[in-house]
Amino acid sequence: MTVEAHKETLGFQAEVRQLLDLMIHSLYSNKEIFLRELVSNGADAADKLRFEALGDDALYEGDGELRIRVEVDKEARTVSVIDNGIGMSRQEVQEHLGTIARSGTREFVSSMTGDQAKDSSLIGQFGVGFYSTFIVADRVTVETRRAGLGAEHGVRWISEGQGDYSLETVELAARGTTVTLHLREGEDEFLEPYRLRGIVTRYSDNIPLPIEMLGEPSGEGDDAKPAELETINRASALWMRNKSEISDEEYNGFYQHVAHDFEDPLLHMHNRVEGKHEYTSLLYIPKKAPFDLWDREKRHGIKLYVRRVFIMDDAEHLMPGYLRFVRGVIDSDDLPLNVSREILQHNRAIDAIRGASVKRGLGRLEKLAKDDPESYADFWKAFGKVLKEGPGEDHENRERIAKLLRFASTRGEGDAETVSLEDYVGRMIEGQEKVYYVTADTFAAASNSPHLEVFRKQGIEVLLLHDRVDEWLVGMLPEFDGKSLQSVSQGELEGLDEDAEKRVEQAKVEQGELVGRVKKALGDRVERVRFTARLTDSPACLVAQDAGMSAHLGRLLQAAGQEVPNVPLILELNPDHRLVERLGGESDEQRFTEWAELLYEQALLSEGGKLADPAAFVRRMNGLLLELAG
Ligand code: ADP
Ligand code: MG
Repeated sequence: MTVEAHKETLGFQAEVRQLLDLMIHSLYSNKEIFLRELVSNGADAADKLRFEALGDDALYEGDGELRIRVEVDKEARTVSVIDNGIGMSRQEVQEHLGTIARSGTREFVSSMTGDQAKDSSLIGQFGVGFYSTFIVADRVTVETRRAGLGAEHGVRWISEGQGDYSLETVELAARGTTVTLHLREGEDEFLEPYRLRGIVTRYSDNIPLPIEMLGEPSGEGDDAKPAELETINRASALWMRNKSEISDEEYNGFYQHVAHDFEDPLLHMHNRVEGKHEYTSLLYIPKKAPFDLWDREKRHGIKLYVRRVFIMDDAEHLMPGYLRFVRGVIDSDDLPLNVSREILQHNRAIDAIRGASVKRGLGRLEKLAKDDPESYADFWKAFGKVLKEGPGEDHENRERIAKLLRFASTRGEGDAETVSLEDYVGRMIEGQEKVYYVTADTFAAASNSPHLEVFRKQGIEVLLLHDRVDEWLVGMLPEFDGKSLQSVSQGELEGLDEDAEKRVEQAKVEQGELVGRVKKALGDRVERVRFTARLTDSPACLVAQDAGMSAHLGRLLQAAGQEVPNVPLILELNPDHRLVERLGGESDEQRFTEWAELLYEQALLSEGGKLADPAAFVRRMNGLLLELAG
């Protein structure tokens, strides 16, 4: 059969060019990762073939022994990585090796830290591993044929990693993909078999696919034996092996493979479960958050296998969102091999696996928090914000998740989030029935909030919440250990300070008309005005109504572009404060209004709010200062 050459030269997508440039120049000291990435692609291709062949055995074309081969040609100065996996059609080559499927380059660039080890781990995570070949090669050739297509559908792709690549149709008898790197000047180390073996052992020892290389020829003269292919990795599914036989290095190496991470994980959980549903899980918690922790389309997570056959990379069905940082493998004995995403959505085995994995993960974190608070603090720094989504997402485990939460507090050290709800409840003062918190945009705003004054005076601890998600979290967590969570800036406080409350009662009697005058001066801007026992140092503060939305939440929603009904706050006055006393004695109505406005404005400011007319505020301030200056 004749092959229509159909050769063309195509330009890389602009993002690819940018990426290539970046990669070549910034990842130079970690250049060996190209081999890890190529092997990983070969392993993915084998997985895909195995999966597709479940429905169509003919795709194996009589060769069902999937493997990867690494070949060196010292004379030609080339290294090739050859797989007999799924291969690619012409269109797939164009899609996968000419563009970046996800528009991630800008993100990639912005997440680069300058630390080459870290940046090179990003490459794997971003799904741009193939392009790392150009770190060591000045020309890369890919020959590939998709399983099931005839030999005449082979494709040859060649590029020098500059602006473009050429594509032509060639005849390829074998399905699968051969990637050949023509090494740059000075990269001869990668022509040494021992060097290549070292890299394979380091990163790819435990991927469940044999990686072969030609050994050295042995003997001399009549005893001479030609070199033979040797399998240079362990090629077993690590998770199927006995725990006691697996070293930490092996667990860590496998983690780096599944998570595309360069660092060791924080911890692993390896379990074989028997009974109604039988499966093996090997799950990891990373040390650091991946760049795409907040990306809804993130792709890497947990790989689902069915009896050693890779089915899909799918975190969504196997872990809830608030544990989306967990990485690893789940291998089920029960699921049908032709399981699809649709099936996964309503599958009992999956639900059971997911439920048990969540409980196991939470249990492991509880243990870490108890046995090694320092590591737990690091974990919290990396993933605490994600875990805070838990109480809203997973009602069944709400109390357990709540125990894992950590907060800054008026008893904590600075802004470190180290106080647990259990700590808090354990040291509540006598008579205290609620868990108190304040929310604000920043730690400074939270810890200096006037709403804390009475709590400080009484020695009552208050949690200082200053994460965006906190406001939402407390909405999802109405109580802990039978104690309700109470915002210090919401509703009326009772029973905190008897003396102050007495003075409030007294003020109501003696200066009852003052609140009415202030309300009149401020009009609709406040819901009402009242005396408070909440303040010691400040003259006034704003609080939300009992069932009303907190002012902070209102601002968050507004910032997120939502329409927020304008619910006026309550202005509270400190009857003991000299400015309030002074206000009460002011008979000039116009001056009274100025004072009232100022009190309102400063209460609004210290609570994190925005003034409707800042210039008027400044004018008022200066007017008063001038009076002082005489
Ligand atoms: P990723 O593997 O994370 O998707 P890569 O840059 O390594 O990113 O590869 C891009 C895509 O190219 C792969 O998703 C795959 O579709 C295709 N590809 C690369 N190498 C092979 C291979 N050996 N066999 C089949 N497809 C491949
Ligand atoms: Mg890859």
